[in-house]
This record gives sequence, C-alpha cells and structure tokens, in this order.
Amino acid sequence: MGVNVNTSTTTHVETHKETHKPGGAPARYAKGRYARGWSRAHRWTAALPRLTFWFMLAAVVVAVAGCNRPGGAPGVSVRTSFALGTLVQIRAYGSKAREAVSDAFDRIEAVEALMSANVATSDVAAVNREAGGLPTRVADDTLYVVKKARRYGDLSRGRFDMAIGPLVRLWGIGTNHARVPSPEEVAAARSLVDHRDVEIDETRGTVRLRRAGMALDLGAIAKGFAADRAAEALLQQGVKSAFIDLGGNILVLGSKPDGSPWRVGIQNPWKERGATFAVVPVRDMAVVSSGTYERFFEQAGTRYHHIIDPDTGYPAETGIVSATVLARRAVDADALSTTVFLLGPSNGMRLVTQLPGVQAVIVTQDRQVMASPGLRGVIEVSKGWTIRFYGASDAQES
Ligand code: FAD
Ligand code: MG
Repeated sequence: MGVNVNTSTTTHVETHKETHKPGGAPARYAKGRYARGWSRAHRWTAALPRLTFWFMLAAVVVAVAGCNRPGGAPGVSVRTSFALGTLVQIRAYGSKAREAVSDAFDRIEAVEALMSANVATSDVAAVNREAGGLPTRVADDTLYVVKKARRYGDLSRGRFDMAIGPLVRLWGIGTNHARVPSPEEVAAARSLVDHRDVEIDETRGTVRLRRAGMALDLGAIAKGFAADRAAEALLQQGVKSAFIDLGGNILVLGSKPDGSPWRVGIQNPWKERGATFAVVPVRDMAVVSSGTYERFFEQAGTRYHHIIDPDTGYPAETGIVSATVLARRAVDADALSTTVFLLGPSNGMRLVTQLPGVQAVIVTQDRQVMASPGLRGVIEVSKGWTIRFYGASDAQES
C-alpha cells in the first residue's frame, strides 16, 4: 500500500465510470429463450429486432468508449470497487477497455475467493482447517502463490513467513478487536509460526500445515498476485495502457496513452494519504509499498502496526517506516516490499540488489531515504528531501 498514481497529465478522454458489473443483455435474453426449447431458426428470428437494437446500442457505446477524439486518444474505462479489504481502481485504455476492466475485476474477485483467510470457502481457509491433518488440494493459482511465498520465506531466512496466521489473528490489527496480547499469548502463537512447516506437493497440487493450530496468511502477497491476474485480463482484451491500483499497490501496463511513462508517486509516511515525497516514471511495472502507517492501532502512546516479526511475535522494528519495491510482476513487488520491511535497510537493499529487474526505495524512522542504484537518474524526490543510493557515498538532494 502507500503508492499513488499521479494521473494529472493523463490525456483527457471520455470516461465511463463503472459502478456495477455490466450485464450481457443480449446473451441473457437469448439464453432464456433457448431454455424454453425453441428451434434455432425460430429463436434467431424472434430475437432479431431485439438483437438489432442491442447491436446498435453497443455500437454507440463502443463509439463513445472506444473511439477516438480529434487527438486520436483511445477510449478509457475507469471502475472503482471494494475488494481484498481495500479500494481497487482500474483505468484502462483501448477499444475494449470496458469489457477488459470488467474481466479484470472478475479475476480479482476470483483471487479473493481462493486466497482470503476471511472467506470460509477459500483454499486458505480449507488448508487452515486441516492444519495438522490431511493435505488439501488447492487451485493452481493458490499453489503458485504459496510457492512464491515459500521462495521469499527462504530468501529472507524466515522473516517473510506465510504461516504468520496465528500471530495475525492474535493481534487482530486492522480489525475492531485489535489489542496488545500478553507475552504468554505471543509466545504460544509464535511457536506455531514457521513457513518450513508448510508442505507443498506440486505433483498432487496440495498444501498441508504440519501442526494443528498453524494458519496460512497470504495478506502480504496475494494482493500483488491479484493485480497480475487483472493485468492479464486487460492484455487479453487488447489493452496496452492501464493502471491498476489495489489500495495503493500499483501495477501499470505499458505507458500512458500519449506514450509518456506513468508517474507513480510514493506516499510520504508522515502525511495524509495522497501526499507523496517522490515520483518514479515507469512503464510495465509494479510499484508496491509496505509501511507502518497503513494498518495500525495505538495504545499508551505506542503504535502497533501489522507487519509482524515472526521471531519476536511483535510488530517488526527494523528502523523502516516504508519500503517500496518496483518489479515487473506485482506478486514479487508485494512480497518483496514486506520482505524488505522485515529485513531492515541494509539487508533489505542487499537482497534487492541481487534480484534482477528489482528496485527499492526505503524511508527510515529518521527520515532518511535510500534507493537502489538502478533508480539513480530515474526517481524524482520532492523539495527538501535527500536521497542516498545504496552502495554510493554521495547523496542526491532536491
Ligand atoms: P503488506 O506489507 O503487503 O502485508 C502485510 C500483511 O501481511 C499483514 O497484514 C499480514 O496479513 C501479513 N503479514 C504480517 N507479517 C508477516 C510476515 N512476517 N510475513 C508474511 N506476511 C506477514 N482486509 C480486510 O480488512 N478485510 C478483508 O476481508 C480482507 N480480505 C483480504 C483478502 C485477500 C485475498 C488479501 C490479499 C487481503 C485481504 N485484506 C482484507 C487485506 C489484508 O488484511 C492486509 O491488510 C493487506 O493484504 C496488507 O497489505 P499491505 O499492502 O498493507 O501490507
Ligand atoms: Mg506485501
């Protein structure tokens, strides 16, 4: 979370605000008739006037949505909806932008249905119910995300831990029952957290938690995967320019319609949402932040945020306030933003610089900004901010 798209320079084109799923009216009409057992010829004849009407209407919609204005800008479809516990907005450009955005939301909902710990019928809930028992057959998508989570667990030597569920439940951060648990409760939950006890059987497509009481939580990675799935849906409908915003987890497709890069702002952790301290111009890139300012509660003057150190069982204290990761795939950027946060500035940057095509921007509690070397000459910082590049002795001021 915590990244904002700066769309101030987007081309001005017609915008369709989608507030509901567009229903396929002609298809529905035809389906009802077929069900009553009409002959094919009869069905077509009877449906003709209505189909003609819908075709004409569709043509008008396409003309407005997809067709070009004098400047040649393509149509745009924008839809905002609530999913994955956050506000999701997709803006897509292209002649089939509207259908594309609808498909993209379907994909996001499908990921939520599979990977939400709060949905009783999800794969994650099923695996958690069977903890200590039998392996659970899961969807290919779930298996893919669990395998990715395993990789980031290994790369971070267990700091990123998809089996963090017992601690997430105990703290309840982001829910209305958040509280500071007793040290005994923390110790008991912590003993059930170890990603190495998540058994993945790729051949059978199953996942199993070795011990009763263990619980998967894919909250640090599945939102990124959902963004990737949304992007796939857009691409399949021929969309070449789009941005996908999952509560601040950004994935951009291509460039802006005018050919210039998308400009993604990085949230200033000390300011209201939307206030940024830096901008990265990007094409085909995910930009994802993890921070202490996203989900937290305060008690007796202490802030307790939602990224938990599996070693202590308490919110991670690494000196980082926000970690932003840029990567081609949002699933990697999402997992890595949490991983970098958990590893701290030095170890986090060391990991990032070993991964091809990955960049990071870290803000520390003492207002220092560190970026990976690949962002030199790319990232633009706001006035008054100084940025250091990992491994370099000089700093860039603005
Ligand atoms: P990130 O840094 O990306 O992730 C932080 C989250 O990762 C924590 O909230 C926790 O879930 C988990 N985590 C904590 N410590 C670790 C660790 N050491 N290793 C690995 N993971 C860790 N929110 C709602 O309020 N209601 C919902 O119904 C809801 N449904 C969701 C369904 C899905 C499929 C997903 C992916 C998210 C959902 N969320 C929901 C949001 C979720 O609870 C988290 O708040 C969100 O995913 C955190 O994202 P982030 O980008 O802020 O932080
Ligand atoms: Mg994350």
